Amino acid sequence: MTARLLDGTAVANQIRAESAPAIAAFTARAGRPPGLAIVLVGDDPASAIYVRNKLKSAGEVGLRTDLERLPATASLDKLLSIVARLNASDVHDGILVQSPLPAAMGADAERRVFDAIDPAKDVDGLHPVNVGRLVQSRATLASCTPSGVIQLLERSGVKIAGAHAVVIGRSDIVGKPMALLLLHGNATVTVCHSRTVDLPRIASEGDILVSAIGRPGFVTNPFVKPGATVVDVGTTQVSDRSVIDRLFPVGSKRREVFERKGSLVVGDVHPDVADVAGALSPVPGGVGPLTIAMLLKNTVTAAMQRAGWAG
Ligand code: NAP
Repeated sequence: MTARLLDGTAVANQIRAESAPAIAAFTARAGRPPGLAIVLVGDDPASAIYVRNKLKSAGEVGLRTDLERLPATASLDKLLSIVARLNASDVHDGILVQSPLPAAMGADAERRVFDAIDPAKDVDGLHPVNVGRLVQSRATLASCTPSGVIQLLERSGVKIAGAHAVVIGRSDIVGKPMALLLLHGNATVTVCHSRTVDLPRIASEGDILVSAIGRPGFVTNPFVKPGATVVDVGTTQVSDRSVIDRLFPVGSKRREVFERKGSLVVGDVHPDVADVAGALSPVPGGVGPLTIAMLLKNTVTAAMQRAGWAG
């Protein structure tokens, strides 16, 4: 069996195109476009690429974008003061503080920063108010990556209601909101994590299997029920050749990219899973583009809600 490809880029393009009329209507009525502010702290190269892609994509659909950069040595108080200024800004409807923050800011820095963002502008859906709304199935700003996965499944014709969905990973940003959204879609949901006993057996019971752990090629054929839909959220930058040797045969396209660049972004799902799964989202080109599309959608939603023009 060769799995059907779940094309995240195509679905993301659909969502972006659907946002265009709402952005134009808001801009005409408000006399300004919806505004997204992104705060980037430090020099993490992966974060810099993510932020650049988010800004580019937001600019292309007609959002106002502003980037606030802070050095890795910046204090938490400085970052919190920027968040306070953006909370008070009339022209910014969405605020995103790129994770991870530098370790030097302290273990609880992310939680304090996410808690400080006005819930009405929390386009990442990480504020406890928005998480609480998600638990009660009345979220309007839900975490972007899991929302994107739901869009990918629905728009690819994968039935969620009644399916047994297994989520590997229980982080606040992906695993937990993913499980909740699948539950609200009437799936029967199992959540697995690093302490789960006999993970391959449990995973292989899933009609839908979502992996969000950040371990290259961890999900192998024994984890997958034949014909299941497998969504690979994991993205790990790999420069270790032995990992590439394990995953990609000599002569394959992915191997060629690695040889050219010296590193490769790799998902959690082993490529051989395509022989067992019924449908599979690739890395790259699967969940990544959807995360950005949902960020743009959330920014438009936040703008409409703040203006009192959304239900
Ligand atoms: P995280 O906060 O590190 O959480 C990882 C989760 O995986 C934890 O719940 C952990 O379990 C679980 N885990 C780790 N090793 C495991 C193992 N051997 N067996 C079973 N479970 C294991 O990571 P995250 O922020 O959720 O991100 C997960 C992955 O998704 C990363 O690769 C990240 O880069 C990627 N990501 C991609 C996008 C995108 O747009 N494509 C967006 C966000 C994240 P415990 O809780 O027991 O420790």
